[in-house]
Amino acid sequence: MILSTHAIVGGAIASLLPSDPLLAAVLGFVSHFAIDAIPHWDYPLRSISVGKRADNRRLRLNRAVIIDVMCVGVDACAGLALAVWLFATPTSAWLMALGPIAAMVPDALQFAHSICPREPLVTLQRFHGSIHSNRKLAWKLGVSSQIVFAAAVAALTETVR
Ligand SMILES: [Zn+2]
Repeated sequence: MILSTHAIVGGAIASLLPSDPLLAAVLGFVSHFAIDAIPHWDYPLRSISVGKRADNRRLRLNRAVIIDVMCVGVDACAGLALAVWLFATPTSAWLMALGPIAAMVPDALQFAHSICPREPLVTLQRFHGSIHSNRKLAWKLGVSSQIVFAAAVAALTETVR
């Protein structure tokens, strides 16, 4: 899933656990793997390699890398902003940032593994790769299904809390 979708799920979890930030962060982190198991679409990156055999040790700063970093940065910031906008109350803004960040961290750790393939990143990467759905949706279905999924998560969270 794209980072924005992970962030919204992390924000939803955090909003249901306003008095337990540690549990919210742990469940946000775990939620990443659960929703990556759902068949989905991920936007293509030009130069940064992702996935089971990703290796970014020879990555050099160039135009393609800058565009990739901007795509990932916009995705992460938009997800964080959306999650805070959807779920934060005046007293819970920091918690609403913690849940989404924890939910996005596994993909940052994937990148860390592609640069420094050592434990515990190796084991985490193996798990992430094994749980990640191998079924890739076409972009139209992929984008629309993630919008519907994120909206459903937000609506369901509103009815529960
Ligand atoms: Zn992932």
